[in-house]
Amino acid sequence: MTRIFSGVKPTGHLTLGNYLGAVRQWAEVDQYRADSLFSIVDLHALTVEHDPGRVRRLSRQAATLLLASGIDPERATVFVQSHVDEHARLSYLLECVATDGEMRRMIQYKEKSVLERARGGSVRLSLLTYPVLMAADILAYDADEVPVGEDQTQHVELTRDLAVRFNQRYGQTFVVPRATPPKVAARVMDLQDPTSKMGKSHDAGAGIVYLLDEPDVVRKKIMRAVTDSGTEIVFDREAQPGVSNLLEILAACQGGNPEALSGAYESYGALKKDTAEAVVELLRPLQQRHKELVADPTYLEEVLRRGAERARGMAKPTVDGAYRAIGLLPPV
Ligand code: ATP
Ligand code: MG
Repeated sequence: MTRIFSGVKPTGHLTLGNYLGAVRQWAEVDQYRADSLFSIVDLHALTVEHDPGRVRRLSRQAATLLLASGIDPERATVFVQSHVDEHARLSYLLECVATDGEMRRMIQYKEKSVLERARGGSVRLSLLTYPVLMAADILAYDADEVPVGEDQTQHVELTRDLAVRFNQRYGQTFVVPRATPPKVAARVMDLQDPTSKMGKSHDAGAGIVYLLDEPDVVRKKIMRAVTDSGTEIVFDREAQPGVSNLLEILAACQGGNPEALSGAYESYGALKKDTAEAVVELLRPLQQRHKELVADPTYLEEVLRRGAERARGMAKPTVDGAYRAIGLLPPV
């Protein structure tokens, strides 16, 4: 059976980008066709300036939102990364296979390190090595597929490189995984700055739709989205990034494709209105389930306890195998 691994970082409130680019396909498709693991990858949240209490709150919230999105813990394994030691154990081994040049070439490292410096902070070493930990997350579970948004495909490529390199040098150990981004909305852009990705850790909230935003807040953010200077509505990410982003969001909500939709609109106002309503309707059931789930925190704890137990059992043989293969003496 195909094995799937993916995750979200508790670095902020989950956004429409996280949902359309990743979580929705986990809930609607992946969990039904593959043995799936979905993780709250909390160790990754420590790579930038963070508040410990906030990371804990966001970790619980992210897990609750995965369940509210329809991920069924009887089908998929939902767990917190730091509850499974194998991630950190394997990450170190992979650091011994990766090179510093490879790490410095990662686009996300370049972008996030600039942001950290701009915020007056220093760049944590873990931000540089983050993609290695992500590779460990994936390889520890022998995952075949990694459903992620387009921004993560470079990290999955690196994961593939590390897996192949390890296997060649030390013998067949890891499954070589591949990224499976969605066909539509693999890169949802910020509504106020449609040339940059909508990201939950970004400071400005006006261009970001959060999954728990009230319907009126969602409407306001989408109605105020930046559009482009042309008068025609065409799907062209280069020439009309604002409009194209709205078309893509609307198409993702309706299950259509953005090119086909563009012919149906003559005004920005009508496009925004339909997009706003489509997003409000998309989020409504999720927000309702979220409300029910927060009323029962012991249920979440039980889900995460069972998830971690199952994940540990799956990761340990592969990681132990990697320790032996690379030349470490088995414990006596
Ligand atoms: P951060 O700003 O902290 O990196 P993020 O919003 O990028 O937060 P992640 O936890 O890094 O969220 O990513 C979770 C998943 O959501 C990944 O699969 C990622 O590719 C996807 N994703 C994130 N942002 C978008 C986006 N704007 N459009 C589509 N997919 C996205
Ligand atoms: Mg990200």
